[in-house]
Amino acid sequence: MDVSIIGGGIGGLTTALALHRAGISCQIFESVTELRELGVGINLLPHAVRELVELDLLDPLSATAIETSELCYFNKFGQLIWQEPRGAAAGYRWPQFSIHRGQLQGLLSTAVRQRLGPDSICCGHHLQDYENRSDGRVILHFIDRRTGKPITSHETDCVVAADGIHSRVRAIHYPDEGMPIWNGAILWRGVTESEPFLTGRSMFMAGHQDQKFVAYPISAGHLSRGRSYTNWIAELRFEAKPLASREDWNRPGVLEDFLPQFESWKFDWLDIPSLILNAESNYEFPMVDRDPIPAWAFDQVVLLGDAAHPMYPIGSNGASQAILDAACLTRMLLSHPDPAAAFAAYDEERRPKTSAIVLANRNNGPEQVMQIAEERAPQGFTNISDVIPNSELEAIAQRYKQIAGFDPKMLR
Ligand SMILES: Cc1cc2nc3c(=O)[nH]c(=O)nc-3n(C[C@H](O)[C@H](O)[C@H](O)COP(=O)(O)OP(=O)(O)OC[C@H]3O[C@@H](n4cnc5c(N)ncnc54)[C@H](O)[C@@H]3O)c2cc1C
Repeated sequence: MDVSIIGGGIGGLTTALALHRAGISCQIFESVTELRELGVGINLLPHAVRELVELDLLDPLSATAIETSELCYFNKFGQLIWQEPRGAAAGYRWPQFSIHRGQLQGLLSTAVRQRLGPDSICCGHHLQDYENRSDGRVILHFIDRRTGKPITSHETDCVVAADGIHSRVRAIHYPDEGMPIWNGAILWRGVTESEPFLTGRSMFMAGHQDQKFVAYPISAGHLSRGRSYTNWIAELRFEAKPLASREDWNRPGVLEDFLPQFESWKFDWLDIPSLILNAESNYEFPMVDRDPIPAWAFDQVVLLGDAAHPMYPIGSNGASQAILDAACLTRMLLSHPDPAAAFAAYDEERRPKTSAIVLANRNNGPEQVMQIAEERAPQGFTNISDVIPNSELEAIAQRYKQIAGFDPKMLR
């Protein structure tokens, strides 16, 4: 059996490594002409890290990423609402990693080229269409995205479409879906070299649903030199309306659009305006997702990662769920000789779980504790327990871990 993977992002590359390890032949077709280390920080939850450890990637990950030790929620005055240990500190067998998305993609693509061969990632191949042949084979038609001109066709047994939030394969099967849905929030994302804050391995979120700031360090190399390479996200909410233009992870942001709103956020443990001002650059991205869909599997063709379940970047799940998809898909291909049956079984297992996360993230996921604190104590508090009982805080954190599948009791 040979599998064609569309898209060389986190999902596509992990799928290639997992299939190769299982002895299944595969090749990646990627739209861009060269994989460049784009993006800012992302998080890998312990259950996703477990799958990457199975793929022998612990050493390069540990050398590059930060092992996140705690997650803290603060109000807009920098007062602590909730703190919980993360990764090994929380008793997981696997760490939680915070890492630069581009470095993660680079680390995965290096492993793919080393293990599957230098030609295993065909860049400059943008999938435009495909046909199911009567003998069960699939013909993929590629164009050069820059010119729009056809370049080649490729015959294959089956197809994994890991082609992201603007998936062409998804659009072929759901032609009326249109643009992703915007909830009115804009995220400005950047990376700044700074002094370490809190434990030096802490991830924190401050504010409430209309104005929020998230930051966490992402570089083991910087920490070993006593510095923090800090990924940050400043978020403001506006009136939600249909997106005027297609969102783009690499669109540059303008400081004046958001810095003034954060000018007073100088906490005694971190100066947020100076973190923003000292960033190398910043990128603007609208908070978008798509509604869950009724099927991901279409005979020999299946969706994976953001193509299947684009979700808000809340709760560290975008990349983690794509990695879990790759592991599940590989298991199903090993246990079902017919790829269509394997894809249907993968759909049955993964679609309900990820649809629940898409919907939970629309309700702010675990971050809802910040909104509750804002509503009950907009001027701040002396003791958080006077505002939100500890049992309520614990229940919210626990519920999200169960939905997202990383409750420590579920991970053995
Ligand atoms: C450039 C970029 C920067 C990002 N930065 C961040 C970030 O800073 N923080 C964050 O949380 N998330 C970021 N993301 C999203 C994040 O990577 C995903 O949410 C998550 O990792 C799931 O990965 P995925 O492989 O499903 O999708 P993606 O990582 O989006 O990968 C999809 C891949 O498919 C390729 N592709 C698309 N259409 C076609 C086609 N028709 N034919 C062939 N190839 C195609 C794309 O070029 C891309 O390489 C970024 C994504 C991209 C593409």
